Amino acid sequence: MTTHPKNTTNDPATGGPAAGGSPARLTVLAGPTAVGKGTVAADIRERFPDIWISVSATTRKPRPTEVHGVHYLFVSDAEFDRMIADGELLEWAVVHKAARYGTPKQPVLAKLAEGRPALLEIDLQGARQVRETMPEAQFVFLAPPSWDELVRRLVGRGTETAEERERRLETATLELAAEKEFDVTIVNASVREAADQLVKLIRSPSITGKS
Ligand code: 5GP
Repeated sequence: MTTHPKNTTNDPATGGPAAGGSPARLTVLAGPTAVGKGTVAADIRERFPDIWISVSATTRKPRPTEVHGVHYLFVSDAEFDRMIADGELLEWAVVHKAARYGTPKQPVLAKLAEGRPALLEIDLQGARQVRETMPEAQFVFLAPPSWDELVRRLVGRGTETAEERERRLETATLELAAEKEFDVTIVNASVREAADQLVKLIRSPSITGKS
C-alpha cells in the first residue's frame, strides 16, 4: 500500500488540488444488480460536477436513451479484445454472463493525478480486481433496503427479458454476500441521501485503516 496522503490537499469547493496538490482518492462503488448504482452515479454527475465518473467500455448494445461516450463507450468484441491486449483496462469482467465491461485505465490515472476525485461504478468482479491493483482506493457497497425491494426494482425497470432478469437475480444473490469485503456500506433507501453519503466519502481524506 502506498503511504502518500490521498486527497488531503484538495479544495473541497472544486475538488481540484491545492498548491502542490497530491493525487485525489479513487472510490469504487459496487453492489447487487438493480440496487440503483447507476441512478446514484447519475445524481452525483448532475449535482456534483467536480467529481469525475469513469465511462466504461462495454460490448453490450446501447439502450435507446444511452449515448456513446456519455453512458458507455459501446465497442465491438474485437475492439474490447484489443483494449485488453494493449493493457488499456484497469479491470474488466463479463457481467451477467452477457457482455464484457471494463474501465479504461488512462483517464482514471490522469484525473487522480490532476487531484480530481474519481468514482468507478462497476460490478463486484471488477471491484475485486481494483482492490488488487489499487488497494489504497476506498470500496463502497451500495445495499438495497431489503431483498424484496431489490426484486421489485429489477422487475420494475422493465429493460430486461425474463431470462436476463433470472440471470441478474442469480448474480445479485452472490453479490449481496460480498458486502463484508467492502470498507463501507450505504443503504440505498433514497437516491439523494445515498448520493450525499457517497459524495462525503469520495471527498473524505481517509477512512479507517487507509491513508
Ligand atoms: P448495465 O448493463 O445495466 O448498464 O450494467 C450492468 C452491470 O455492469 C452493472 O452492475 C454495472 O455496475 C457493471 N459495470 C458497468 N461498467 C463496468 C465496468 O467498467 N467494469 C465492470 N467490472 N463492471 C461494470
